[in-house]
Amino acid sequence: MSNLPFWPRLLGYIQRRTTTSVWRRPFVLNQRCPIISFTFDDFPRSALTVGGKILVRHGATGTYYVSLGLAGKQTASGQIFFPEDLNTLVEEGHELGCHTFSHCDSWATATRTFENSIIQNHAALARLFPYAEFKTFSYPISLPRPHTKARIADYFLGCRGGGQTFNKGKIDLNQLSAYFLEKSRGNLQVVKDLIDRNREACGWLIFATHDLAENHTPFGCTPGFFEQVVRYAANSGAEILTVVDALESLGVPGHETAKSNRPRVRAEVRPMASGKKEPLVSILIPAFNAQDWISDTLHSAIGQTWERKEIIIVDDGSTDSTLDIARRFETGTVRVIEQQNQGAASARNTALSHSQGDYIQWLDADDLLAPDKIARQMAELDRVASRRTLLSSEFGKFLHSWPRAQFIRTGLWEDLSPVEWLLRKMGDNLYMQTATWLVSRELSESSGLWNTKMLSDDDGEYFCRVLLKSDGTRFVAGSKVYYRGFRSNSLAYVGRSDRKREALWLSMQLHINYLRSLEDSQRTREACRAYLQRNLINFYPERSDIVREAEQVAKDLGGELCPPYLSWKYAWIKKTFGWEVAKNTAIQMREVRWSVENALDKTMSRLRDKNIPLALSDTQLTHVPRLHRR
Ligand SMILES: [Zn+2]
Repeated sequence: MSNLPFWPRLLGYIQRRTTTSVWRRPFVLNQRCPIISFTFDDFPRSALTVGGKILVRHGATGTYYVSLGLAGKQTASGQIFFPEDLNTLVEEGHELGCHTFSHCDSWATATRTFENSIIQNHAALARLFPYAEFKTFSYPISLPRPHTKARIADYFLGCRGGGQTFNKGKIDLNQLSAYFLEKSRGNLQVVKDLIDRNREACGWLIFATHDLAENHTPFGCTPGFFEQVVRYAANSGAEILTVVDALESLGVPGHETAKSNRPRVRAEVRPMASGKKEPLVSILIPAFNAQDWISDTLHSAIGQTWERKEIIIVDDGSTDSTLDIARRFETGTVRVIEQQNQGAASARNTALSHSQGDYIQWLDADDLLAPDKIARQMAELDRVASRRTLLSSEFGKFLHSWPRAQFIRTGLWEDLSPVEWLLRKMGDNLYMQTATWLVSRELSESSGLWNTKMLSDDDGEYFCRVLLKSDGTRFVAGSKVYYRGFRSNSLAYVGRSDRKREALWLSMQLHINYLRSLEDSQRTREACRAYLQRNLINFYPERSDIVREAEQVAKDLGGELCPPYLSWKYAWIKKTFGWEVAKNTAIQMREVRWSVENALDKTMSRLRDKNIPLALSDTQLTHVPRLHRR
């Protein structure tokens, strides 16, 4: 087989024997049906564009062991994938596995360096797809040193080597066997025999290769040969599964939790002070009819690199499948609570009453947290004076594709005293998204419960109170929230609902009282008046009772209100048909604009799905990927 001289071959033999016999994670295969998996290492572009297509044509999908550090490069195994190819990969239902960032030799590389390369690969993946994680691994170039094999085992559900055979009986999850197709040198009969033997043994045969082209590299094979192998495999009675799907269907330990809360890849290797427990963070999610978003939101909560966390979802009487979806995530870390529909504020109170955390992270069922959102804020704690400091973060709005979220800095993105914060919020018409905050238990307890009378702006009112009890905000740059904006049925939108108008008026009065309780001065009164003036349009002219009350409040503040400003576009309607018609037209136009924006964003997302080149950069991939099919 090998043309290598004797000594290196002997050395290779010794290496293989040593590694193979130690640090095993034994598992006994006893499935009823033989399994075959197709895998690609590195991976060259043609493995996806040619190989992936062949697999899909036969109703199968593959596993791509990726070294993200090789992206776009020309290597010994051919032209490596481009970042935008990963979008297609995930869309076609294939899965990604880890192959180290820089493709380092598993035997020749020091364990620490090797481990760092795994962490680096994960970090690169997280930049592309915030919620994704690698669940399986393939050793680059050679088998690992025993110490390396031991060290990386608990990062993955399973690690794949070579060995030119299939897995049967008692297997080693830390070193799954694979058959490299290029080593058969185009001899189809050898491969067919192997598939037959795998069927008889009811084993798990994992094929591996690299590029697929007529003029393939020494590490690849021709598309024709590959297709014949896939066809024979598909007709052999074996199930064709990706590696993670195979591990799950075999029921390997950890697979139940791996999907959700088990940090497959540790974000950073940090020596933990022995005996000293890290604070627990409670992520509290009220959910009502959020079936389209809830699983992405949960993935983003579960994927937090901050390890000590609990996640509580309160389903507020959804009439869609929100509850069923949430239940699928239930584990020791993720709890689902049901209640009859009572509104978001009530659902938040329920979640809070069940939580144990030292810190509270509020998260709406359609918003997303960047993986290190909480970790970055927690890291800032060492630098803040007290537990009463309210931590904030950046937030960006998106519609369908979070990578297109726009992060626009405002005057609230700073370290501010409570009065300064409220002054800017009310005077300059700014806001902070709910999920940006991280609140200590102490601060949360002194602020009271959510006000269930609030139909809109419940978070605005609540966080005013939190702020009042705090000693100010600490803005943590780089900590990020992705916020799904612009929905006309959202809580924040008042529109033409009378109940929402009344709730808004209540919230506004409370806001004014809060600010004036902190400081009753010329500047705070002026900010309150500006706040009233700006919000007047929500009540004018049809709720003359509220308008009169607002005018009275303005008078107390030493000012006056003028009729609301209506854009020139609607001014002529006002002249002809009166205020109400003009305003309703403005509201309708806004709703039309939203639905157009919404449709446009959706179409853009779909176009990208179809891989129409839109000159994407590698940080602008469109999807939240599922790393493996379900
Ligand atoms: Zn490789």
